[in-house]
Amino acid sequence: MRAMQLRQPRQSLVPVEIEPAEPGPGQLSVRVHACGVCRTDLHVFDGELSDPRLPLILGHEVVGQVLASGTGAARFAPGARVGVPWLGWTCGVCRFCVQGRENLCARARFTGYTLDGGYAEQLVVDERYCFPIPDAMSDLQAAPLLCAGLIGYRSLRLAGDAERLGLYGFGAAAHIIAQVARFQGRRVYAFVRPGDSAARRFAEGLGADWVGDSTEQPPEPLDAAILYAPVGALVPAALRAVAPGGSVVCAGIHMGEIPAFPYEILWGERTLRSVANLTRRDAEEFLPLAARVPVETSSVEYPLSDANRALGDLRAGRFQGAAVLRV
Ligand SMILES: [Zn+2]
Ligand SMILES: [Zn+2]
Repeated sequence: MRAMQLRQPRQSLVPVEIEPAEPGPGQLSVRVHACGVCRTDLHVFDGELSDPRLPLILGHEVVGQVLASGTGAARFAPGARVGVPWLGWTCGVCRFCVQGRENLCARARFTGYTLDGGYAEQLVVDERYCFPIPDAMSDLQAAPLLCAGLIGYRSLRLAGDAERLGLYGFGAAAHIIAQVARFQGRRVYAFVRPGDSAARRFAEGLGADWVGDSTEQPPEPLDAAILYAPVGALVPAALRAVAPGGSVVCAGIHMGEIPAFPYEILWGERTLRSVANLTRRDAEEFLPLAARVPVETSSVEYPLSDANRALGDLRAGRFQGAAVLRV
């Protein structure tokens, strides 16, 4: 199979022709149709996350078709369309796993980080961590839902029943979650990089109730804010934008240093928290919800061989919405 391989952090992915892995017990072999390009891929590429598997095939927003099942794998028939997310395996026995908080499992394995991912024609996955993709969605539409959508949804869930919701960083996750939030009857306040008029138009086009620069204060205090941009300086900015009792949720896996801030902007029972990974429950709730909304993802398509260009464009903010590799 063809794949794009990361040999060393910060070195361009290398196109390779390798033998696909055989599915072991409980595993599926999946023919990849589409794989989203996520900001986390950039953090792995840059060596900002410790201990990736090397060489590594990136990619954890995979939509594909079951080719073959290993011993005991009976959840999906050959030919079934499945989505493969970031969470690839958990231990099932630690305190976190037995309490339904498998996203915090210390032994968890992650697609496209500690397991080979979807920048390839095929991958092998544990069938328990795959999900059926709603029929109405195309492969291209569905791929960004597998991380931007899922982690976005988990962060929305952790933001509570906020009616006035701020979204900082209007990229792949925010453009999906803005649609879900509006469907749920919330008001959406979109914060974009100062001067980024394309992002501003994009947020307006998705029905945001207010769009402003991330340095601005919203016209009224927010009930919650979600940070999708990995910029530490946005944490105090968001704390200043939320009302007493409000929460600020950091959705990224990596963030630049958070500057010191005065206690008074946290005071008033404001909450500051992060979101780590996802649970299978998040996916079971979110994918049918996304089909009901229905979420329309805005994707820019690249061939698999152009994965390096897709990562570069994501880094430079050259497109709106999500990048997806068509395999
Ligand atoms: Zn565990
Ligand atoms: Zn991701």
